Amino acid sequence: MSLTYTHKAGTANIFIYGHTGKGSPMEEKIMCVRCGAREAVFRGLCRRCYARDHLLLSLPEYVDAVVCPHCGAMKRGEHWLDLENMEAVVRKAVEDAVAIGGEVGYARVSLEIQMEDEKVYRVRVTALLDGGGDMEGAEVERRAETLVRISSETCDVCSRRHGGYYESIVQIRRRDRRLSAEEVEAWRERVVDMMAHISLHNRQVFISRMEDMHGGLDVYLSTTDAGKQMARQIAREYGASVKESGSLAGRRDGRDFYRSTFSVRLPPYERGDFIALGERVYRVLRITRDSVHLLDLSTGEEMREKRDIDDRLDYLGGEEAVVEGVVVYDGGDEVQIMEPGSYKTLQIKKPAHFSAGEGESVPIIFYRDRVFVV
Ligand SMILES: [Zn+2]
Ligand SMILES: [Zn+2]
Repeated sequence: MSLTYTHKAGTANIFIYGHTGKGSPMEEKIMCVRCGAREAVFRGLCRRCYARDHLLLSLPEYVDAVVCPHCGAMKRGEHWLDLENMEAVVRKAVEDAVAIGGEVGYARVSLEIQMEDEKVYRVRVTALLDGGGDMEGAEVERRAETLVRISSETCDVCSRRHGGYYESIVQIRRRDRRLSAEEVEAWRERVVDMMAHISLHNRQVFISRMEDMHGGLDVYLSTTDAGKQMARQIAREYGASVKESGSLAGRRDGRDFYRSTFSVRLPPYERGDFIALGERVYRVLRITRDSVHLLDLSTGEEMREKRDIDDRLDYLGGEEAVVEGVVVYDGGDEVQIMEPGSYKTLQIKKPAHFSAGEGESVPIIFYRDRVFVV
């Protein structure tokens, strides 16, 4: 592995001293006290001698890095830092340990990492140091080598996670019916996806555990804010309602400690599902807080209904409610469709945008002995 990074000193221009030769070309330069060249520009030294004396790199013989064996986070002082892999840990440890001489303006540092074993990495550092500012161009290459030793310690977050720590619960339920096993599984995945975004840049946020409860899913979260964000996101994307309640959970660090529960109630349907209202069958296109966008399967028209339809609809199901039918007769305004499973044939008014010909198959859905083309 080989890596490069650029070091920049805190002070950009640290050299304001005497005659540099700039702006006064006629001026004769003085002699370098070190090598005698008539090129002295600073403290009686030429650029080359200056670089040799003032541009320095130091690196300890050993560098220790503490890494959490569960999540790979690296300990830095009192904090833990999420890093993508061990190479990043080694690089960060060496970057932290490298000391660039105080008079370096900028440096290009490259690392060559070699694994000795899982706990020991040999790192060769090559640094091209430049004086910067007035001493730009005074440069020197320095090399150093160190051994990075990795030790293990469970991080703050992992120890809480393993201890089942939580501050909020998001209870996901569906109105009118239980979530099926497939739906619970789908919600487990959705919740993990949502969490990936909510916990971005905040390693204190995690899912402590998930439990299947009464045809729903309970999600235990490490912070109240994470629970709130998750509940709001479900409300926004799935048209759910949310109720928050809190209870005193005990005392921690001498203060009362509360836990919040977010009761999330999903509508009886999701986007893509089929519902019936009266004699008509609709596909759900979009759900918002107070309305639902539907596609009328008979006419192909889109419409919007208030969410009070939730009280009076028949739920037909999702994709699993759709079966393959075969067009057995096309009579112009009407078509006959047979369901191959039961050989049942039904005649319907030809729906809008219907294009299948005789012998071709079409996705259909049954409702009250009637057939609807999806
Ligand atoms: Zn010199
Ligand atoms: Zn950890």
